[in-house]
Amino acid sequence: MRIVFMGPPGAGKGTQASLLSKRLGIPHISTGDIFRANVSEGTPLGKEAQSYMDAGEYVPDGVTNAMVRDRLTYDDAQSGFILDGYPRTVEQVSELDAMLRSAGIKIDCVIELTVDVDVVVARLVRRSAEQGRTDDTEEVLRHRLEVYAEQTAPLIEVYKSRNLLEQVDGLGEIEDVTAAILLAVNA
Ligand code: AMP
Repeated sequence: MRIVFMGPPGAGKGTQASLLSKRLGIPHISTGDIFRANVSEGTPLGKEAQSYMDAGEYVPDGVTNAMVRDRLTYDDAQSGFILDGYPRTVEQVSELDAMLRSAGIKIDCVIELTVDVDVVVARLVRRSAEQGRTDDTEEVLRHRLEVYAEQTAPLIEVYKSRNLLEQVDGLGEIEDVTAAILLAVNA
């Protein structure tokens, strides 16, 4: 199974992608997690990404695409994967298409987790306090939601027109959302 997770910041993508990864036995590939790991290890990639992340901006496509292209070559990704937080721009969609085409594989399903913006803001403010994430202050997160609406929400139409989109309500208990995602994935 090759699955893409979409949805605004705070929709619960990371939590659900991680749970689904365990259920399906395929890796959870989160570009945000890879960037954060690089930031905390102080790698050149982390140094490049940090200022964008702290400002709530997207890391440039060239950097992000190269990172995903590399990650998808790992052994564990050969039988499937869950992409969480990628693609996020129209250019990333084209790049992902090219990566998959050259590997002779296809995305099976795109899950969009839908949520109410007010609920998202409340969740993110709470997560910011719990995890100490520097990109979740109220000002930055409002900007992240704007960037999502401008640059990423249009991708939903792209995947809808390819008949790959499954919309799942991201509100509710974690296990209920997971169950709804499993139903959508198996549909
Ligand atoms: P996330 O944990 O998915 O919310 O990502 C945290 C931050 O990492 C984002 O706000 C961006 O700065 C950066 N990031 C993650 N994925 C991408 C992507 N696909 N394209 C550009 N920047 C990204």
